[in-house]
Amino acid sequence: MIEGGCNCGAIRYKIDAKPVVVAQCHCKNCQRQSGSAFSINLMVPVAAVTTSGELTTYTDTDTASGNPVYRRFCGTCGSPIFSDLSQGNGMTIVKVGTLDEPGKFAPAVAVWTSTAWPWVKLPEGVKGFERNPR
Ligand SMILES: [Zn+2]
Ligand SMILES: [Zn+2]
Repeated sequence: MIEGGCNCGAIRYKIDAKPVVVAQCHCKNCQRQSGSAFSINLMVPVAAVTTSGELTTYTDTDTASGNPVYRRFCGTCGSPIFSDLSQGNGMTIVKVGTLDEPGKFAPAVAVWTSTAWPWVKLPEGVKGFERNPR
């Protein structure tokens, strides 16, 4: 079981599945949302996620594909928790920084390296994609 939550404790979640992939995302939207160089995202089946607490949703329509991304965060402390894609195929994205044990989940791929900051170097063995891989 993978567990995590927000800064204030209003949101807690459990994931009863192995992650499908762990990816760094260097897109502008993730940079703005995280206030940092990139986000680290865990992709898991949405059916495996149990959440307690009330998430606030921002519908992000400023996306390269034109498909909205539903960015879910704690309305009290602002911690970003999940991103749901409108065409997510039953998957959801979890922000690795909100896991109780985030260090266990090293990224395998990096996406949107075309907008990565100049000083950012990918970890050894991480495969980079200029945009989203198909
Ligand atoms: Zn919170
Ligand atoms: Zn992104």
